[in-house]
Amino acid sequence: MKTNHIVTNQVPPLEGYDVADYPVITEYLDRVGAADSLPELHELGRLAGSAEWIAVGDLAEEHPPVLATHDRFGNRIDVVRYDPSYHRLMDTAVAHGLAARPWADDDAHAHLVRAAKFSVWTSVDAGHGCPISMTYAVVPALRHNPGLAARYEPGLTSLHYQPELIVPTEKRGLIAGMSMTEKQGGSDVRANTTTAVPQADGSFLITGHKWFTSAPNSDLLLVLAQTGEGLSCFFVPRILPDGSRNTIYLQRLKDKLGNHSNASSEVEYHEAVGWLVGEPGRGVRTIIEMVNMTRLDCATASAALMRNGTTAAAHHAAYRSAFGAKLVDQPLMRNVLADLHVEAEAATLTALWLADLTDRARQDEQTAQLRRISLSVSKYFICKRAPMHAAEALECLGGNGYVEDSRMPRLFRESPLMSVWEGSGNVAALDTLRAIGREPEALAVFLDELDAATGADRAYDTALAALKDSLADAQAHEYRARTLVGQMATLLTASLTIRLGHPAVADAFVHSRLDGSWGSVYGTLRPGVDTAALIARAMPKL
Ligand SMILES: Cc1cc2nc3c(=O)[nH]c(=O)nc-3n(C[C@H](O)[C@H](O)[C@H](O)COP(=O)(O)OP(=O)(O)OC[C@H]3O[C@@H](n4cnc5c(N)ncnc54)[C@H](O)[C@@H]3O)c2cc1C
Repeated sequence: MKTNHIVTNQVPPLEGYDVADYPVITEYLDRVGAADSLPELHELGRLAGSAEWIAVGDLAEEHPPVLATHDRFGNRIDVVRYDPSYHRLMDTAVAHGLAARPWADDDAHAHLVRAAKFSVWTSVDAGHGCPISMTYAVVPALRHNPGLAARYEPGLTSLHYQPELIVPTEKRGLIAGMSMTEKQGGSDVRANTTTAVPQADGSFLITGHKWFTSAPNSDLLLVLAQTGEGLSCFFVPRILPDGSRNTIYLQRLKDKLGNHSNASSEVEYHEAVGWLVGEPGRGVRTIIEMVNMTRLDCATASAALMRNGTTAAAHHAAYRSAFGAKLVDQPLMRNVLADLHVEAEAATLTALWLADLTDRARQDEQTAQLRRISLSVSKYFICKRAPMHAAEALECLGGNGYVEDSRMPRLFRESPLMSVWEGSGNVAALDTLRAIGREPEALAVFLDELDAATGADRAYDTALAALKDSLADAQAHEYRARTLVGQMATLLTASLTIRLGHPAVADAFVHSRLDGSWGSVYGTLRPGVDTAALIARAMPKL
């Protein structure tokens, strides 16, 4: 039979490759002496790039969680039911140490290696990364109550995932969440109205509403509530030590733009039992320790989204032809792909460096200062860049990129989220300015870091001098906070690419983002950039 249905010039599926085979990740681990982690990283990378696990991620996205408030007899149960694919993703993530494992690990590179794995694994599904990240992040905050930390850290740091909601001390593995945002304010948590009333036994009864609480099936939640001393942080288990359900009522799940596999809920606490973590009235200071770790994951995950977008774009361009030549061989597409790759690789390098500082800050206060200010700057900037990047990567696939089964729409929907939560763009930029005002020595350490890259490139040196001029009056510049923090972030990234990165990336980054030659969209690199090296580094090896 004659047919007109002949498929030509379509691209093979992007599967059956090692997601961890991304040069900047392996080179960084190698450089700092963490090469012994590479076999496990590659194992996870091969899983993440396999057809089987890509399909598991698709299932989790296509079958979002469902809230069950009551059982069939009318009793409240307040549980979220997930597709089995979600539990498989969680299980693999926890088993590979992506939750709180680094806090129980003496390895000098535990946080760095975990960040590399998180970056690789998040390509399968971003949604389950939220509870994994919160479980990772909760430990430093929980340590403000050493008794609670001693009891629950073994479960948080375990390699076992156990989804049943039972008494936390009877579980081998625990998941944690955070409950701060209320209807009247998320950035300004001091406006929280939830109250905590002390009891004779040392516990508190917590009453109020929370407008966003992701992964509400978590065994443990850190909740902000007002006491007589002001806003305080509380440890609130879903199941109480006597086995009864804490009085936490899930009202509704959010119908979100993306991040579909993750349940984000509205919650009411009706005299729920909790225990104080940290000093009363210092709730923000306590929970910020958790937020500072989730912010690292926001930067890492946004960089990973950019890497995934560039990988998909490069793969498509390698097979698709138009006007008689492969897209990857056409000069303007080479400019776009190279530019997308520069952004993704530079962001990945910065995120890895921040995770590396997390390890090194354990011994050294100056490094801790450098980490704080650099994280604040980079969380703002990397997360802000992701949506534009995702849109451009999607466009490289043409019409196919706008169609769901290319997975590019999912990437695009995910891309604004990291900038919204854990300090939205403006708040993150303003936080950085406040940190500079509060800790001038941190700015000095930050500038030392930038100074270390001078002398290699005149464009860099000129841009650094301009930043120093702008910073002279940083406090007066709330209106220009984005400009200033953006400048800081660009210079930090440039300095890292010059000192630690691939020469082609450093050259393209500096001679676009810093010298004024770059346009307002991707694909506007100047002539002379080594596009061959850049595209080769982006191309997945199938
Ligand atoms: C999918 C998802 C999951 C979430 N999960 C959780 C969770 O698990 N737990 C939790 O506690 N929260 C969670 N959140 C809430 C999130 O952290 C908040 O939405 C975020 O902090 C912003 O708060 P808001 O929505 O109240 O916005 P607002 O605080 O009202 O801010 C609105 C806008 O104003 C800007 N803005 C605020 N202050 C200033 C200022 N001084 N100057 C200039 N601009 C300013 C902000 O940058 C933002 O762009 C989640 C949100 C989403 C989308």
